[in-house]
Amino acid sequence: MNNKYVIAFDQGTTSTRTIVFDEKGTIVSIAQKELKQYYPQSGWVEHDPLEIYKDQFDTFNQAVTESGINPEEIASIGITNQRETTVVWDKETGEPIHNAIVWLDKRTTGICKDLEKKGLSNYIKKNTGLVIDSYFSGTKLKWILGNVEGAQEKAEAGKLMFGTIDSWLIYKFTNGKKHVTDHTNASRTMIYNIKKLDWDERLLDELNIPKSLLPKVQTSSSDFGTIDYKGIQIPIYGVAGDQQASLFGQGGFEAGIAKSTYGTGCFILLNTGGKQVKSKKGLLTTLTCSLDSEPVNYALEGSVFAGGASIQWLRDRMKIIKKASDTEAICTSIPPLKNIYVVPAFAGLGAPHWDGKAKGSIYGMTLDTGREELIKATVEALAYQTKDVIGAMEKDSKKKIVTLKVDGGASANNYLMQFQADLLNVEVDRPKMIEVTAFGAALLAGIKAGVWTKSDIALIREIDTIFSPKMEEKIRKRKYKGWKKAIKRTKRK
Ligand code: ADP
Repeated sequence: MNNKYVIAFDQGTTSTRTIVFDEKGTIVSIAQKELKQYYPQSGWVEHDPLEIYKDQFDTFNQAVTESGINPEEIASIGITNQRETTVVWDKETGEPIHNAIVWLDKRTTGICKDLEKKGLSNYIKKNTGLVIDSYFSGTKLKWILGNVEGAQEKAEAGKLMFGTIDSWLIYKFTNGKKHVTDHTNASRTMIYNIKKLDWDERLLDELNIPKSLLPKVQTSSSDFGTIDYKGIQIPIYGVAGDQQASLFGQGGFEAGIAKSTYGTGCFILLNTGGKQVKSKKGLLTTLTCSLDSEPVNYALEGSVFAGGASIQWLRDRMKIIKKASDTEAICTSIPPLKNIYVVPAFAGLGAPHWDGKAKGSIYGMTLDTGREELIKATVEALAYQTKDVIGAMEKDSKKKIVTLKVDGGASANNYLMQFQADLLNVEVDRPKMIEVTAFGAALLAGIKAGVWTKSDIALIREIDTIFSPKMEEKIRKRKYKGWKKAIKRTKRK
């Protein structure tokens, strides 16, 4: 039993981490560094790719050293990363030609409008699964080529490389030997055809992107090259974008399994199996983590803009709670709400309502509405919004979800989880392992290395609590009807 540890690199928007897992899937050590954010103009967000690499290397070194394990016992490394963030570097020097443009960055809205005007919305939806938006890498890549002096010419001469953060890290860690990515990351670029599983010639043409820039796309659990660490060769055997890695870490590799991550926003994914479901409700279609010798699976993806952010609003703006976790005891201390709804449309309403102009609102207050009621209604709004997205997914896929797997900071709230189970009328399954995203990346790497098989996941992923629905059908219906009415009143159009 030599190679018994698996390492996850977890490169997120605000931090870079390395986690060492043992063969039972238990965390042995974690090292973390905050990532500097650069805001060169309003609406622009950048990261320094060299800093990302350095932080990843440093946390790797620190986590391995602190764990006290022998590096020779490391079976493999898996990488999970912030998705869509775009890096372009020089093929000869390996130096980035511009800072990384982060997924949040809005500078390419003009390029997106042009694509819409050209009538490409439908084509893009059908072939990439995405809606035209500055989030995705394609228009960011075009912006760099068009705005860095000489970049377009260099790209055409085959002298540049493009990658999402996974590709960039692999390129650096393998000393420039590998220029690769995986299905999940490719499916967020808006230039990857998720039907043909290849870069989309027409979109590359429209955006003037030479094919020579692009990484080779591999299955998520495969050989991405080797890291030389103190003379020891350690293979990178897993790569996945953060949301797909978390779906995988939750055991969501079969149709009908959904996961929701309750963080600042909520990210919800439903595995729809081998069938590419085209959403009528404004959800995205994306690729899930792929394994060698298995056909690719698709997922529907939707997000809630104000998830935990609305709990932060209670704390920092309304100042009616001291810390987020206070909300649970407050929710259980008062009787069920009678028709009070907080619609936290602070940043508009996302799927399936899509109203960017909507603003936050409160409905149903009477003279006996107090602090506790307001807090409870805000917590419940996370569950109502998640139900809206899952309802849209069920309509699109014409299937009922089987269970909802949950993670993220606010999933610690037992009241919220029970209320979620009640509203959806399905079981809500919360694992003991909180680091589901990193765990997903480790699983991909561990499966390829032979540490685990796919069927081991159910054993390694220990359940903390299953929340079973308890609410009467009549009450469930009445509550949700009230929410829908509140949404209707909140919408501007
Ligand atoms: P992110 O990864 O987006 O930073 P996390 O997964 O760390 O988010 O979750 C933090 C969010 O969850 C915060 O917005 C916080 O307000 C909320 N949160 C944390 N604990 C609780 C709780 N017990 N009840 C409700 N919300 C919570």
